Amino acid sequence: MKEIIIATKNSGKANEFQTILEPRGFKVLSLLDMDFLGEIEETGQSFEENAILKAEAISKITGKPVIADDSGLSADALGGDPGIYSARYAGLDKNDEANVEKLLEKMKDVDWENRTARFRCALAVASPERETITVEGSVEGYIAEKPEGTGGFGYDPIFYVKDKSATMAQLTPDEKNKISHRAMALKKLETLIDDYFA
Ligand code: IMP
Repeated sequence: MKEIIIATKNSGKANEFQTILEPRGFKVLSLLDMDFLGEIEETGQSFEENAILKAEAISKITGKPVIADDSGLSADALGGDPGIYSARYAGLDKNDEANVEKLLEKMKDVDWENRTARFRCALAVASPERETITVEGSVEGYIAEKPEGTGGFGYDPIFYVKDKSATMAQLTPDEKNKISHRAMALKKLETLIDDYFA
C-alpha cells in the first residue's frame, strides 16, 4: 500500500484527507505519526507558495509523497489581508480572539457591501519522483460586524457564508466540511490524485 504523509499535526485535518485517500488505496500518515520535530518556515508570498514549500521540504526529508496545505481569510476591503498572515495577524504570540478583534477593528468603517471576503486553501502534492502539483479552493462570504456562533475555530465566528445566511461558526461540523475552502480544494485534488500516482 502506498504511504502518503499529510503535513499537519492537526488530527481533524488529517482525517479529512484520510476520508478521500484511504478508499483509493493510500495509507495516510500525518506528522503526528512521525518524529518530525522541525518547523518549516512559511516564507512564501502566497498560499500556493507556502503549501509547495512545506510539501517539498517534508517530502525531501522523508523520501515519501506529501500533501501540505496553507489557508487563511482574505478581505477585499483590506487588499486581501490578513491572507497568508491569518494565523499571526495580531502578532506571533497572539491567538484567534486577538486576530478576530484586530480584523473587526480594521473593518469597523466598512459598509456591508464592501465587506466581501473569502476563505482560501491551497494544497500541494510533492513526491520524490514527480513534479509538484497544486490545487486551490475557496468559499465566498462577508466579514460580519460582530462574532456569532460557537463552532469551528479561527475566524469562523466573523465569516458570514454567503450561501448559508449564517456565520461559519453557526454551521454544524458536517455543514462546514461540505462547503469549506478545504473541502473545495480536496474535491479538486480528488479528481487529480489517481493520475498523479498512475
Ligand atoms: P492553516 O494554514 O490551516 O494553519 O490556517 C492559517 C490560519 O488561517 C488559521 O490560524 C486561521 O486563523 C485561519 N483559518 C484557516 N482555515 C480556517 C477555517 O476553516 N476557519 C477559520 N479560520 C481559518
